[in-house]
Amino acid sequence: MSEESIIVVGGGIAGLTGAALLAKEGFSVTLLEAHTQLGGCAGTFQRGSYTFDVGATQVAGLEKGGIHHRLFNYLGIPIPDAKILDPGCSVVLGDGSGPINLWHDPLKWKQERQEQFPGSEIFWSLCSKIHESNWAFVDRDPILPVRNFWDISQLIKAIRPSNFLTGVFSKLTISDLLKITGCHKDRRLQKFLDLQLKLYSQESACRTAALYGATVLQMAQSPRGLWHLHGSMQILSDSLRNSFLRDGGRLLIGHRVTKIVKEKNVNTFSIDVIDRKNNFITLNASDIVFSLPPQTLLDLIPIDGGLSLTYRERINNLPKPSGALVFYGALCRSDLPVNCPSHIQIFDDNFGSLFISISIENDKRAPVGMATLIASMFVDVDQWSTLDSQSYKSKKNIIAKKILNIINNQFDLSETSWAHKELSTPRSFERWTGRPGGIVGGLGQHPSQFGPFGLSSRTPLKGLWLCGDSIYPGEGTAGVSQSAMMVVRQLMECKGRYLNIPVFN
Ligand SMILES: Cc1cc2nc3c(=O)[nH]c(=O)nc-3n(C[C@H](O)[C@H](O)[C@H](O)COP(=O)(O)OP(=O)(O)OC[C@H]3O[C@@H](n4cnc5c(N)ncnc54)[C@H](O)[C@@H]3O)c2cc1C
Repeated sequence: MSEESIIVVGGGIAGLTGAALLAKEGFSVTLLEAHTQLGGCAGTFQRGSYTFDVGATQVAGLEKGGIHHRLFNYLGIPIPDAKILDPGCSVVLGDGSGPINLWHDPLKWKQERQEQFPGSEIFWSLCSKIHESNWAFVDRDPILPVRNFWDISQLIKAIRPSNFLTGVFSKLTISDLLKITGCHKDRRLQKFLDLQLKLYSQESACRTAALYGATVLQMAQSPRGLWHLHGSMQILSDSLRNSFLRDGGRLLIGHRVTKIVKEKNVNTFSIDVIDRKNNFITLNASDIVFSLPPQTLLDLIPIDGGLSLTYRERINNLPKPSGALVFYGALCRSDLPVNCPSHIQIFDDNFGSLFISISIENDKRAPVGMATLIASMFVDVDQWSTLDSQSYKSKKNIIAKKILNIINNQFDLSETSWAHKELSTPRSFERWTGRPGGIVGGLGQHPSQFGPFGLSSRTPLKGLWLCGDSIYPGEGTAGVSQSAMMVVRQLMECKGRYLNIPVFN
């Protein structure tokens, strides 16, 4: 490999997006993926005639001007076939009241929330103002957090007067916005916000940054929206892989990175890799785009490998992300309620939030007349990491039964309704994605961690770049694609080139 080669570590959506963009720009790029399949947390697996999405089930950013749409257009690959979700989600608070439907039409959603949370319009109006200002800012491709003059210049270019106004909320939480607008006594609204925010920011309303929360709370509405991909989530990775290979990228799947060293006195990295047949290979590169959780750097880079102790400590002290428990089931569609929404969030006393995704007839995830049902929840990874194999098995059985109980109760199903059922735990996610302990979803979006206060894509090792769900703007396939685009722009600027990807609004 030439010393000017770039290595991308990890073939999830972040790594694939970065690799596809760099290959399109004519760089010599090698993508290293440990698993034999691409996609990571947005991958899929097969069980007989059923296709299950491993983690991500909904996609944001497929609308015109959205980040996936924008990048796919730029890469010259077809926009995946997808259906807008309307409602984006149906939220069941478990207090005997009817579901809260997140309609795609903003007016219909306004009517819904006015009925569900009377007197709260002032809170929603404030969120809308923040949301509009934020999206316009994001579309102008700011760099966050800033680390040098070029980053600052990109940030300044993205800022408009409205961002200064919303900037005053940067240290506040969603609960603070509730207080400011006098809506903090509405317990139902609080519960709804806690549920939704846990899903998108891993934090409750009192810990989610106001600027982040106000944006994600309105992701389901036009002109944005949440989408259901036809086929499976794998279509996103397949499309990006095709673009990468078309542009001459070198894809090494089943290749796990085990060590990264910046060679002294030369400006190159050497990267140790082990393949599925246990062959050891060493590759060289001028730059590394690293899409794994930053916590993995501590093991991959030797203690004397150039990351300062302060930086190592910063990574070590990052708040621990959650893990996930995911139930994958299949059943007869006729056993589900008529007009059952495809995405439902249920409050449960035990687990907090249970997020359910049901396949849509003819979406290729299940044979005609059948449906897949995936239910996920966040969990503390420490509860699973130290168990011996017997305790692990028994805990897994107990939890699987509890989850099944909730789903059976919700949809009036019985044990015999299920044609397939299995549960994945943080250990399964660790095996599948190589994420330490099975942590998923990046860093919680607390005011101390989000946007300008988060972890930078630049590292103390020149040429080592971070992207993925721990980097701005955060988790989700749309978020990690944005982070990959940001890193590619920064990397190219270092090589004297400017990348401009048009937004088609
Ligand atoms: C249960 C669950 C539900 C979710 N639901 C949604 C949703 O509905 N919508 C949404 O947008 N997002 C959702 N997300 C979040 C979304 O899936 C992630 O934020 C996103 O897919 C992360 O992409 P990534 O590329 O940053 O990381 P990953 O997907 O983790 O990719 C990292 C890749 O690196 C590879 N790798 C790991 N170690 C090594 C190594 N040493 N060498 C080489 N390769 C390595 C892994 O195999 C993996 O392919 C969900 C996540 C989970 C867990």
